Amino acid sequence: MNLNLTNHFTQNLPGDANLENSRRQVMEAAYSFVTPIQTANPSLVHVSEEMRTALGFSEEDIASKDFLQFVTGNRVLESSKPYAMCYAGHQFGHWAGQLGDGRAINLGEINNWAIQLKGAGPTPYSRSADGLAVLRSSIREYLCSEAMHHLGVPTTRALSLSLTGDQVMRDMLYDGNPEYEKGAVVSRVAKSFLRFGNYEIFAARNDLKNLKILLDYTINTHFSHLGKPHKETYLKFFQEVVNRTLEMIIHWQRVGFVHGVMNTDNMSILGLTIDYGPYGWLEGFEFGWTPNTTDRQNKRYRYGNQPNIGLWNLYQLANALYPLIEETEPLETILESYKTNYEVQSQNMMRSKLGLSTQQEGDLDLIMALENNLQASETDMTIFFRKLSEFQKEHPSEGITLVQQAFYEPKAIQGKLQDQWNQWFSDYAQRLKDEALSNDQRKEQMNKINPKYVLRNYMAQLAIDKADKGDYTLIEEFYQLLKKPYDEQPNSEQWFAKRPEWARHKVGCSMLSCSS
Ligand code: AMP
Ligand code: MG
Repeated sequence: MNLNLTNHFTQNLPGDANLENSRRQVMEAAYSFVTPIQTANPSLVHVSEEMRTALGFSEEDIASKDFLQFVTGNRVLESSKPYAMCYAGHQFGHWAGQLGDGRAINLGEINNWAIQLKGAGPTPYSRSADGLAVLRSSIREYLCSEAMHHLGVPTTRALSLSLTGDQVMRDMLYDGNPEYEKGAVVSRVAKSFLRFGNYEIFAARNDLKNLKILLDYTINTHFSHLGKPHKETYLKFFQEVVNRTLEMIIHWQRVGFVHGVMNTDNMSILGLTIDYGPYGWLEGFEFGWTPNTTDRQNKRYRYGNQPNIGLWNLYQLANALYPLIEETEPLETILESYKTNYEVQSQNMMRSKLGLSTQQEGDLDLIMALENNLQASETDMTIFFRKLSEFQKEHPSEGITLVQQAFYEPKAIQGKLQDQWNQWFSDYAQRLKDEALSNDQRKEQMNKINPKYVLRNYMAQLAIDKADKGDYTLIEEFYQLLKKPYDEQPNSEQWFAKRPEWARHKVGCSMLSCSS
């Protein structure tokens, strides 16, 4: 392996002078140097072909022992100076103080892609936890981050998934029943892993010197198109982070992705989906749904609340940047723009899901009536929108039959609800008459927006159950399937199906906790 690995991050930012890997508060530093632990018996489970190529690994490389050692942290390249980042965060609406990379160790950059190992051992930021990750959650992160990319959603990526050969103790549901699980490491890749929390920590400690160093570094490295860092650039930067965050969340709403833990330490400064923990995919379309059992009480991070939380998190970032800008008004104006842009972009996104390319005044009513119907009885979001593309505007009365497959309880679609649906299809047909596209053209457009295949919660669980027995065929199958989520793949029709009943309340399918 001939890797050109750089240490741009650590060379340009203040590091922790203490080199001891002990858990502690780390002051005036953006990171601490730390070495990954040795694992017992590492083995490679899967490599993302796409990221392999992007990072410049050859096929021979990934078959080599060197590669395995590299992506599990068992051997650190001479050119690499591994480190864990120092950041803070607001968790579930409350200030949580220093958090940091408790189980992610960064190796440096390859071809300007930062690479980090999740689950490679403890760091000064591990607090009371072990710094490790288990196979179950690593499969979920590995498959989902790649799938999200192919859905067109900004996200961190994954290069590889490996087993460590070690056993890791986990209390999956925090119910006092810990068990041993297989340890695993995902090598994750992104242009940057900086989070809102990286800025929050310096601001909270009133360490304005390092706040400025970090912000200037971020702009020079990742937002250089905005110009040289100074007050005005900071505002432009903030506007861009706001725009990117909104864009990412609109994508989540479009595909039915629920992140589950939108704490500010899990918000990427580049507007990437990051930290795949207790995330989930909408099965029944439901604004109130969250997969995260840890959040069951308040449902702060439920599907319908994600746009609001995005804004709430941006307020925290604005507070953190404020000392370098010292003016509230322009920051408030930018935050206001999130709200107005949200209204416009969210409606446009829903229009595109319906195949509408023009705007009309009644569109919002049409959209809201649809959302009402979708929630009135459990209706599979992915199947509904995909089947809707086959709608013939000349035959509105066939609408219900067309989307039949999406109803979890077809028998519930009668009486008043049936009337509501018929009314909606009739309004939709009427609306489509003002559009220039033919039925076929509209179908083609809609199928580029409404995926046929997503990583349904039970699918990830099936892949996990098999992998736990040493069979990785489903990981490969889903990896390939989800590379083309908008394509018809006749051999994979079985994954275009509602969640089976056994998965309704199963742990891992509809119930997930932060414990991963
Ligand atoms: P999360 O909500 O999963 O993004 O994690 C929140 C914080 O807990 C971050 O600082 C993580 O690094 C840390 N953390 C989560 N799991 C572990 C673990 N197993 N060992 C050490 N730190 C962890
Ligand atoms: Mg996190």
